[in-house]
Amino acid sequence: MTPKFPLNDELSIPAIGFGTWKLKGEEGRQAVQTALEVGYLHIDTADRYGNHKEVAEAIKASGVARSEIFLTSKVWRDNLHAADLLADVDRFLVELDTDYIDLLLIHWPNKEIPITETMAALDKCRQAGKVKAIGVSNFTKRHIEDALATGVNIVNNQVELHPSFNQADLRAFCKEKNIVVTAYSALSSGNMESPLIQSLGEKYGRSPAAIILNWVVSRGVVALCKSVTKERMLDNLTATDFIIEPDDLQKIDELEQGPRFLSFDFSEFDYE
Ligand code: NAP
Repeated sequence: MTPKFPLNDELSIPAIGFGTWKLKGEEGRQAVQTALEVGYLHIDTADRYGNHKEVAEAIKASGVARSEIFLTSKVWRDNLHAADLLADVDRFLVELDTDYIDLLLIHWPNKEIPITETMAALDKCRQAGKVKAIGVSNFTKRHIEDALATGVNIVNNQVELHPSFNQADLRAFCKEKNIVVTAYSALSSGNMESPLIQSLGEKYGRSPAAIILNWVVSRGVVALCKSVTKERMLDNLTATDFIIEPDDLQKIDELEQGPRFLSFDFSEFDYE
């Protein structure tokens, strides 16, 4: 049974979520449907992934009630002016064939657009019930401080996070601010090949992927994982079903830190 982390007074987020980046067309639709059928109750999409319609079709075909599913989507960084954002959210609801999005994130920060305007528009969507909770993604501490200064509540920051890029400082900061962190690219980051992760896999009789996801969740962080393979979907979903000894978790904490893998020319990671 996947644990959940509380986000605010009403909402909690399943600690393992199914990622849908690069899942498009029939293969994408089928992957999301299979994920729901094997038990994922948290789906992560984004306008930029171009797969809202596939996600909607998969939810319908899976037979899983919408109310059982925690659905996240993200607004692209060019569309953070109020009018663009409000129009986007209405379009998302049509594409996703739903009355509400559980968690709506700013996909990437954009210093060209005033954060006050964006946060007010997001809050308007929340007050209208179109969005249950507001979050951000790829935000540094300083971006978060700017966003919180608007007075609108942020419940989540989705960032690249894995054993060799563990975001310890950002995690501590988010904990202080009551913001749950979500990890992306925990598996695609090369950490499955780490000798420590491999040896822990052998020790616990689980895959390197399961060791990484278990460690992520043990640190109070939500783990996203994407796969087109049913066996891997199940392996990942059950990654919290076993206990890693505290000393072994700490060894993962102490792994040498390397570079982030995902960065674009528009990323504002130097805004600190
Ligand atoms: P990921 O889930 O870290 O890794 C996916 C890769 O790992 C795929 O090649 C998959 O192959 C393989 N894999 C999955 N489970 C495995 C297992 N148990 N054993 C071995 N290999 C396994 O990739 P990601 O898509 O980068 O990140 C996850 C999600 O985070 C995305 O889908 C997206 O929803 C979100 N994300 C958000 C942002 C952002 O800017 N907010 C950025 C990146 C990602 P197969 O498919 O062939 O199994």
